[in-house]
Amino acid sequence: GATVYYDADCNLDALKGKKITVLGYGSQGHAHALNLKESGMDVTVGLRDGSKSWQVAEKDGLPVKTTAEAVKGADVVMVLIPDELQAETYEKDIAPNLKKGAYLGFAHGFNVHYKKIVPPADANVFMVAPKGPGHLVRRTFQEGSGVPSLYAVEKDPSGDTKELALAWAAGIGAGRAGILGTTFREETETDLFGEQAVLCGGICELMQAGFETLTKAGYHPVNAYFECVHEMKLIVDLIYEGGFHTMRSSISNTAEYGDYATGTKLITAETRKEMEQVLADIQSGAFADEFLADYKDGFKKLYARREKAANHESEKVGAELRGLMSWIKK
Ligand code: NDP
Ligand code: MG
Ligand code: MG
Repeated sequence: GATVYYDADCNLDALKGKKITVLGYGSQGHAHALNLKESGMDVTVGLRDGSKSWQVAEKDGLPVKTTAEAVKGADVVMVLIPDELQAETYEKDIAPNLKKGAYLGFAHGFNVHYKKIVPPADANVFMVAPKGPGHLVRRTFQEGSGVPSLYAVEKDPSGDTKELALAWAAGIGAGRAGILGTTFREETETDLFGEQAVLCGGICELMQAGFETLTKAGYHPVNAYFECVHEMKLIVDLIYEGGFHTMRSSISNTAEYGDYATGTKLITAETRKEMEQVLADIQSGAFADEFLADYKDGFKKLYARREKAANHESEKVGAELRGLMSWIKK
């Protein structure tokens, strides 16, 4: 099986005494910066002038500088700003100020793998990618646990980049949950494929198609929402806890029979072919270029689709329903 690293396999000394800069103070940035500070590290946050996050980071007790100033003199620079902004920020503020032999870190391989960022030969390049949202990285750390994370080393002129990456992962709490090795290519391509084909693209479209099929046939939208959207979490929780077998041993035989009989009618050979094409577009860089082209075009496609999704009938029904369910955290 895979090698999994825990706290006992990591040495925080690889980071202690080093000047650490975290760029960005959003979902991942605030979690990495605060967790590392509480693990005894010397952390500075880098933000652009006029950033909304500036006061927030200062209130949390962290020194804040502009991106360029925070990179100057830093031994380790972790880039936790949105993927679409990283290349221009790298050219303008990071590359001109990056110390020789510094460690340059990422939480997603996107820009390095697709060569939108090409670090200098002397830089050590690593990744620590928590497999969960930043707010969970922070909350689990405070509770004494952590979020499992991947680490990777892309360039290692110093010879000790792996130790530093493992120290970073342990410093944010991942050593309590498990740290797995990967490469920039593997992390980037599997992460994009998972979110597009299954976790976000696949699942949201499936739930909405189910909702629309029932409402179009005249069933009440509340029932349609319950059966095709709300219950998804209950099923996924069982899979998360014990795999497909545990989920199937909890549902009725009727549901299990229908599961086997119907799933393959929807996910057909044709669907699998489409999945292969999605993967091919990720591997060739076509998806990355399409995404970055939309960013350069003011995110016209992203924003139009976001608005259309927000106005889908299922969102209105869902909001009403959640209002009635006092146990769901707001
Ligand atoms: P967010 O959108 O949450 O964070 C944006 C932060 O970056 C804000 O503080 C923003 O400040 C700041 N920022 C924007 N431009 C600059 C700049 N030029 N210099 C310094 N700071 C800047 O990003 P995420 O945390 O979602 O993503 C960061 C990275 O982590 C990405 O590579 C992503 O793929 C990866 N990742 C994210 C996960 C997640 O849970 N969201 C999970 C795993 C990996 P302001 O806009 O106020 O200026
Ligand atoms: Mg992703
Ligand atoms: Mg049912």
